[in-house]
Amino acid sequence: MNHLSSETFRENARAALADAHLRGALKNATSLFGEKRKAAAASLPNWEDLRTQASAIKDEVLSHLDGYLEEFVGKAEARGAQVHWARNAAEANSIICGLATERKARVVVKSKSMTTEETHLNDALEAAGMQVVETDLGEYIIQLAEEPPSHIIAPAIHKTRGQIGELFTAELGMPPTDDVAQLTSTARATLRDRFAAADVGISGVNFAIAETGTIVIVENEGNIRLTTSLPRLHIAVMGIEKVIPRFADLDVFLKLLPRSASGQRMSAYQSFITGTKRRATDEGPEELHIVLLDNGRSRMLAHPVTRQSLACLRCGACLNVCPVYQQVGGHAYGSVYPGPIGAVITPQLMGIEKAAQLPYASSLCGACREVCPVKIDIPRLLLHLRGEITPRKGSVAERLAFKLWARAMMSPALYKLSSVAGRLLQRVMPISKAWTSGRDLRPIESKSFHQLWSNE
Ligand code: SF4
Repeated sequence: MNHLSSETFRENARAALADAHLRGALKNATSLFGEKRKAAAASLPNWEDLRTQASAIKDEVLSHLDGYLEEFVGKAEARGAQVHWARNAAEANSIICGLATERKARVVVKSKSMTTEETHLNDALEAAGMQVVETDLGEYIIQLAEEPPSHIIAPAIHKTRGQIGELFTAELGMPPTDDVAQLTSTARATLRDRFAAADVGISGVNFAIAETGTIVIVENEGNIRLTTSLPRLHIAVMGIEKVIPRFADLDVFLKLLPRSASGQRMSAYQSFITGTKRRATDEGPEELHIVLLDNGRSRMLAHPVTRQSLACLRCGACLNVCPVYQQVGGHAYGSVYPGPIGAVITPQLMGIEKAAQLPYASSLCGACREVCPVKIDIPRLLLHLRGEITPRKGSVAERLAFKLWARAMMSPALYKLSSVAGRLLQRVMPISKAWTSGRDLRPIESKSFHQLWSNE
């Protein structure tokens, strides 16, 4: 399986840059998403007001998360759901595997869920002897290819139609084609059969409403409807940050999310699930279990700067506009969360030592902040994380250079001397070799600002 490590981002990125297929697929997909997002946002005259409202709601939730979670749990349990708390990925997987094993489950259908990607749930279920079937088309493709997702909302964005056709021929035995209609109809026919056989359906959660105990899941393919309603047991897995206070808040988020994610005015399906079914003749599962995952989120919540990371709606818009993601794609990040938000979340989830290169995988151009529907200041977060890494990772030479620079900046005489020394040094030795290996360093002017100023 193509699982690269976050620790080798530079090497991963270099390999990705040499892959012409990958860069072609990324260019087409990210430009298309970007154009559609722009047009969809322009269709709402109050777009900026909505972003401001969404940001304020998320601020409110994250400042009182304990209270809103308590309210959500009380309301959901009153409607028949059973709620479980998981401190980390291992606990979440153990709860879910336990529930499935107790019911002697053999086939598990899943809808797209970044949270279960984060916990590597499929590996745990397979190790417990179950067949796991991803039912979102993109997830199904990468499951067949035995690859991790490379985009938050479009997991197979790195694959061309031709590559998907070859994969389906090899794995599903269909005649070679790159016709999208034929490919999707083959996937649909295979998946329908698995839905009918499934004992357990596992989904993610987009929003959890504290006021009513409702979980809300949005999608375009209808597979979430089937995953959450056909099997007898539905397990919904959510990060603790997904809670929102009121039903009315959805008005803001359901306008922002589909427009930011795929440039749609509205998702094709919106499922609202409040507890279990009331009567035996109703549609839906007999049991609903909701797993609330922490896995490092409380740590992010504790700091006023990193807290913002938890406002993310997982729309993927920041990936599509990021000049780094556009060139190297998602796998290079070595994390289920790639792109600008991945560079922020991954070091906080995995531990900064394991993903120390990611906060530097950005030009800090600010395009991510411009498109984020909840106004997360990603460049600020990246700088904050760089500040955490630098004292640990900065070389002795770097630290000495900055100490000398600080001394020089405090003394006019030393400052003048350093600018002369800098010009001389640039002539006799290469400066910042790593920095200049991929770009030009402008020559230092022959005269200092003071000299130019006094000549006038
Ligand atoms: S950080 Fe903002 S733009 Fe990026 S995925 Fe999250 S909500 Fe979307």
